[in-house]
Amino acid sequence: MQFFQKNSDIKLIAGPCSAENREQILNTAKELSLLDKRIIFRAGVWKPRTRPNTFLGAGDIALNWLNEVQKKLGLYVSTEVAEPEHVEKVLKAGIKIVWIGARTSSNPFSVQKIANALAGTGLSVMVKNPQYPDVDLWIGNIERLLQNGINDIAAIHRGFFPYEKHAYRNIPKWEVPIELKRRLPDLTIFCDPSHISGKRQYIHEISQRALDLNFKGLMIETHINPVEALSDKNQQFDIKQFKELLESLKWRRQVAEDETLNRLIDDIREKIDCVDSQLLELLQLRMKYVDEIGNYKKEHNVSVFQLKRWANILETRLKQAESIGLPDDFVHKLLEMIHKESIRRQSEILRNNNN
Ligand code: PEP
Ligand code: MN
Repeated sequence: MQFFQKNSDIKLIAGPCSAENREQILNTAKELSLLDKRIIFRAGVWKPRTRPNTFLGAGDIALNWLNEVQKKLGLYVSTEVAEPEHVEKVLKAGIKIVWIGARTSSNPFSVQKIANALAGTGLSVMVKNPQYPDVDLWIGNIERLLQNGINDIAAIHRGFFPYEKHAYRNIPKWEVPIELKRRLPDLTIFCDPSHISGKRQYIHEISQRALDLNFKGLMIETHINPVEALSDKNQQFDIKQFKELLESLKWRRQVAEDETLNRLIDDIREKIDCVDSQLLELLQLRMKYVDEIGNYKKEHNVSVFQLKRWANILETRLKQAESIGLPDDFVHKLLEMIHKESIRRQSEILRNNNN
């Protein structure tokens, strides 16, 4: 069964971080089912926690509660599998959708073992991104599944471990899921704003961003009473907050249905193509001048990097950027990339000429 392709109208995965007790699971699922029957209910049965001595999920018994949700409320249900024996237990409990979490996804050995256990089960699998922004590792996990005949797969973008202080718990690095989509255009990709944000206050903005970027849908941690949640309490929505989120979001179409609008977009795209081409030609011209200077520097034994010049470039360009309304950090990054390439070329000229 190609669940994700067949059920392309399913746009929401919701439910608590962890399965804590039967009442919590059934009450949360009941409320969610009243909002939307086409939700994939989620709950972590076995929780991979960063620190020991924290709540590890209710364990095997919670599979019965998920099974009840499936049977009584008619919701699809899903949980995380981190070990081959989880796969066996999930199968026995009649659960049909699982996900591979970010910690597991960071380890090819673990993913291979799970992929082997999943072979021939017919389960649908959602693969979260690894904790660090390595798109090849994410794709590698998907390939391990495909090679084992598991082809009902979706991906979940849940952000990347922040090595520096950041407002969010995990950094979105949107370019990574965008690259995943470019390389696997038919793959269904959900976004998990709960684990990106780490805090309720950021969930709206991250969710809308994901929809603007054409993600299929969202995984939102939702709890009947988040204040007392046993894991991830700061990022879980209660039912009312979840409902408000759904009401406030603008879901985007992948392509405009209106022909006139499509033509208009195509016209503007042509202009953008033309500007991009000019940008590339200008960059090529800049690099030509850079090479010329490189040759002079070599001839007169002058160092490649000139701090004063770089400071001057930054100052003047950023001033100009501000005056024409281009954001400072964007232009700063762009200049850094251009400057880095200029330095690289000049260093190469000096090296070659030393031979
Ligand atoms: C989860 O979904 O509850 C979870 C543990 O997420 P992640 O693997 O993204 O940290
Ligand atoms: Mn969680």
